[in-house]
Formats: sequence, structure tokens, C-alpha cells
Amino acid sequence: MIEQQIKTVIRDIPDFPKPGIVFKDITPILQSPGLCESIIDVFIARLQGLQIDGVAGVESRGFLFGLTLATKLGVPFIPVRKAGKLPHTVKQKIYELEYGSATIEIHTDAFKPGDHILIHDDLLATGGTVTAASQLIQEMGGIVSGFSFVVGLSFLNGREKISPISDNITVLAN
Ligand code: 5GP
Repeated sequence: MIEQQIKTVIRDIPDFPKPGIVFKDITPILQSPGLCESIIDVFIARLQGLQIDGVAGVESRGFLFGLTLATKLGVPFIPVRKAGKLPHTVKQKIYELEYGSATIEIHTDAFKPGDHILIHDDLLATGGTVTAASQLIQEMGGIVSGFSFVVGLSFLNGREKISPISDNITVLAN
């Protein structure tokens, strides 16, 4: 089963990127083309019935499966990037972090008002990043149709934070 396969290969990295944080390293998944293919297949199966006109992937690990997912669904991929990375006209959102703030940006022509957008990232922790991405997409006239993640850290209650935005939340491994 996919959850067990993912849990078997991802690894805990203590004290990364700072002391006290145990980082879930998903890169071993990328060494297995079979597992990557299964992840996409399971996402596609679980997202059946959801209206999706575009997939927004959050920099940078949200790009890994986000583009393939969009391509398989036959819809555009929308890169959600950190400030200063996208070359064309952007709309941005500044959001609060535990210490300080961060800025994300989307190209103004990346999707049309009224489009239903699936937000994808590798991992759901507190839900702060995808909440900011949701707000930006909504400010641009998009409708957030759901969320998809490879991994969820359930003890951080991200699901509770994002469910008021959309309760179509797909997490492959908790
Ligand atoms: P959140 O905003 O939900 O607290 O954090 C999620 C964001 O931070 C995602 O973009 C994710 O890539 C990154 N992130 C936070 N912790 C981890 C972790 O332990 N492993 C990985 N792979 N990404 C993490």
C-alpha cells in the first residue's frame, strides 16, 4: 500500500535546517521511478470527481509531483514561487512565519478568474504555506478546489487549519 511504501523510504533528518527540527526528507522517493509512478496514479485515482482546471505547486518540492499531476490531468501547472523568482508580472502575498514573514508570487496570467485550482505540495506541516497560496489564488479570482500532499505531519494540525478553505484534502502518508 502506498502509505507504507512512502513511509519506508522517507527519512528523518535531525536538526535540519536548524537545531531541534526533525526534517522529513522525501528525496529517496525520487530514486524509485516505480514509487513515483504509483504516487501519481494514486493521486489521480483519489482526485476523481474533483473539478480541477489547474494545479498550483508550491516551490520547490511541490514542483516535483505537481507538474506530472497537472500533465496527467491535462491541465496547466501554476508555479507558486518565492519572491523575485518569476520573471513576468506577478501578484504576491506576504504571510507570517513563526519568526518573520515570507512572500510568495504567481504570474498574473497563470490562470483565469473562476478557474478551480488544486494546490499541491510535498508536505503539509502547519498549513501556513498552502493557506497563503490559497489566499493569493482567491485574491486572483481562483477557486481552491482542494489540496494534495505526499506527506502530512498530523501532529501539527495542518488539516484543521486548511479544511475551512477546502475539505478536499488528499494526503498519501501521515
Ligand atoms: P507549513 O507551511 O505547512 O508549516 O510547512 C510546509 C512547507 O514547508 C512545505 O512547503 C514543505 O515543503 C516545507 N516543510 C516543512 N517541514 C518539512 C519537512 O519536514 N520535510 C519537507 N520535505 N518539507 C517540509
